Amino acid sequence: MKLISYNVKNFRSIEYMKYLPEEVKQEIEIVSKVLPFKANNYVVDYLIDWENYETDPVYILTFPNRHMLPKEDYLRVKQAVESEMPSHKLTQIVNDIRLRMNPHPANQQSNVPRLNGETLDGVQHKYRDIALFFPTQGQTCHANCTFCFRWPQFVKDLDLQFSMKEIDDVIEYIRSQDHLHEILFTGGDPMIMSPRTISRYIDKIIEAKIPHLDTIRFGTKSLTYWPFAYLPQYNDEAQELLDLFKKIVDNGFHLSIMAHFNHINEMSNAVVSEAIQNIRSTGAQIRTQAPLLRHINDDADMWSKMWSKQVIMGMVPYYMFVERETGPYGYFQLPITKVYDIYSDAIRKAGSFAKTVTGPVMSAAPGKVQIMGVVDSPVDDEKYFMLQFVRNRDYSKTFKPFFMKYDEQATWFDQLKEVEKALV
Ligand SMILES: *Cc1c(COP(=O)(O)O)cnc(C)c1O
Ligand code: SF4
Repeated sequence: MKLISYNVKNFRSIEYMKYLPEEVKQEIEIVSKVLPFKANNYVVDYLIDWENYETDPVYILTFPNRHMLPKEDYLRVKQAVESEMPSHKLTQIVNDIRLRMNPHPANQQSNVPRLNGETLDGVQHKYRDIALFFPTQGQTCHANCTFCFRWPQFVKDLDLQFSMKEIDDVIEYIRSQDHLHEILFTGGDPMIMSPRTISRYIDKIIEAKIPHLDTIRFGTKSLTYWPFAYLPQYNDEAQELLDLFKKIVDNGFHLSIMAHFNHINEMSNAVVSEAIQNIRSTGAQIRTQAPLLRHINDDADMWSKMWSKQVIMGMVPYYMFVERETGPYGYFQLPITKVYDIYSDAIRKAGSFAKTVTGPVMSAAPGKVQIMGVVDSPVDDEKYFMLQFVRNRDYSKTFKPFFMKYDEQATWFDQLKEVEKALV
């Protein structure tokens, strides 16, 4: 890979963190035993304001800190590291902590489909029209986000990973499912794969000519963490990738890049707008999504500006999520009421074209639940949440508003209580 003015290295080691005081580096070293840490120098040198790193959203997004672990767990790992405990003992402590961090929220593993009696391990098929595909080579990311619900996938020694090598079975499975018309490449980040690897998958999909398959999506954070993937002047594989996008579109597919943007700061460098233009010129559409996270983006003004800017830059705001209960969620979570307040304030301020965003949404076990509002009942003077499933395993249950009891503290769908009596 050739880069002209950006000198790119992967940072897997805290020794590179030249901007940080020694005690902070030590803290990162300890926490990262549990929460996998990885960054590259685009993130480090071009996205973080090091003068104010402690409150910088991209710093908090990338660098683990001690408050992301329960205090006792942090101290256990610290003690283990400092006493130079044998590595198998440290691994035991670390695995014990990880397994208590709810590695599989919403029971994702129950969505693995079967083909000819065998499970398709690199696939999730939860909603009838769309399947997720986890290509083996895409199970890592350019940098690791501290809030990420996919964290078990980055941890090699835990048997918690999804992924699979062969697309042939996936194609056969899609062919057998008439309603399945979209395939979403996900990971990790599928855009970590070389264009050559991606095209091995895509060429087979194109050749398969499945009449009901019309949409290909890639879920990626590369526009934030690695915009060079789309910039031929910096990266000699970029043209191949753009040509591949064009080929997908020219073969009649709708191609949607599902881009993750957690903060408006991630869109400030000119390389990002250029990457967006290059992608759009292939005929691909870009849609944006992100969870709302305490300490990073719990700010309505930021969201409304971010959505407006995304529209101006040529993207379509798509989802705002509620942070899932996994990994260091104690650090990032906010009550549903608070998330809803931020969402409604932001969408009101953003104006016309941000209305395409669906939010706030919880990806829960039965499906994606949108919080539509807080309603004062005219019957009993109580408050209720109005919700709807925008996605459900059973599609007949989608887009039917329903009520749950209002709860100031609840942070997730399964904490909400049903309403016993008729409200009207
Ligand atoms: C979110 C999600 C999708 C995609 O849903 P859209 O609403 O179409 O964006 C597909 N499968 C699973 C399991 C999901 O969680
Ligand atoms: S880029 Fe996406 S999958 Fe990768 S760590 Fe961040 S949120 Fe997780």
